Amino acid sequence: MTLPALSTWSKNVAPSPTLAVDAKAKALKAAGKDVCGFGAGEPDFDTPAFIKDACAKALADGQTKYAPTPGIPALRKALADAYTARGFTGITENNVVVSPGGKMSCYLAILATISPGDEVVIPAPYWVSYPEMVKLAGGIPRFVIAEDTTGFKVTPDQLRAVLTPKTRMVVINSPSNPTGAVYTRAELEALVAICVKAGVWILSDEIYEHLVYDGQSTCSPATFSPEAARLTITVSGYAKTYSMTGWRLGTLVACKEVSAAVADLQSQTTSNATTFAQFGALAVHQHPDKAKASLAEMAVAFDRRRLKLLAGLNAIPGLTCYRSQGAFYLFPNIRKFGLSSADFAARLLEEELVAVVPGSAFGAEGYIRLSYATSDATIEKGLERLARFCAKLG
Ligand SMILES: *Cc1c(COP(=O)(O)O)cnc(C)c1O
Repeated sequence: MTLPALSTWSKNVAPSPTLAVDAKAKALKAAGKDVCGFGAGEPDFDTPAFIKDACAKALADGQTKYAPTPGIPALRKALADAYTARGFTGITENNVVVSPGGKMSCYLAILATISPGDEVVIPAPYWVSYPEMVKLAGGIPRFVIAEDTTGFKVTPDQLRAVLTPKTRMVVINSPSNPTGAVYTRAELEALVAICVKAGVWILSDEIYEHLVYDGQSTCSPATFSPEAARLTITVSGYAKTYSMTGWRLGTLVACKEVSAAVADLQSQTTSNATTFAQFGALAVHQHPDKAKASLAEMAVAFDRRRLKLLAGLNAIPGLTCYRSQGAFYLFPNIRKFGLSSADFAARLLEEELVAVVPGSAFGAEGYIRLSYATSDATIEKGLERLARFCAKLG
């Protein structure tokens, strides 16, 4: 018997290359190989105990049933208050939707706003999922490429040049995965002003909002003006900030029209984010001092590793690395070696057991992504191996 055909959607979607690198590195590790993994996009810390305790208590208390589609009321209210404290205006719990992961929040935001044939501007290097999500909605991704020479940030002129009458959305991800780039307020304001003038949605993925270094700060497009507030869909979550990747909890704040549409889409797909997990996240808002302390501990470790990795990378002849100020990624330029990023990454894993993600996965040939959400020892050993590999390439 021959199987009926798979859908055009499933045939056109590219599987996540970052998860693929991670799976390959984990398989080598499981086979007893001493792999230095820089591939994973997740913190290597455990979830803080006070969050796990709150979740365990919710489980013990019987919070094991369906929750309201957009999230448990207390968490939506806490999120509305937190965003209001940060300068968002007119936000109530009705503007907030909690979903199973920030990835799902992004996807639902796109599904709620993008129709077949609509164009979505995605600055590259981009997070691997944006183009695929846009395509799954029938939309057309339009890329703007920023190199290390501009700190991986697109300029207002670049953005203006890519807008067409079909543009419906511009994606902004600051701090960025994969580059770690952080836009300054002035830089963001310039881009947002162009979006407002064009009347397009702004998807602001702020999942790394709390992970910035060198005294950098982040800001949200939704706080820039009433018009920007109407057009901006702000996505975030707990995965990266509190090392809760496996909990699958994402958040979305938008105008009532969008948040209602997102909740409707969620009601017919995932129903709600796991009920007891939401009670764990609620603890973040109920114990701000503990949340701050665990975040600070993680950020200090990340910053130390960032500087160590950055110095090590820039000490390797032929390799240059931009000093990124956010998230937990560095994105060195490997063009001098004359290999494609996929070949570079494949050979590096094979010959030196170092796992990195090729830049091509992020729409940026000529670079590799290294996550420094890994131990200091791995960074030191990985740098030695990378240096030996580069020396061999000459
Ligand atoms: C990790 C990540 C997300 C969402 O992660 P979840 O685990 O789904 O919450 C969203 N955007 C970017 C850029 C990310 O790196």
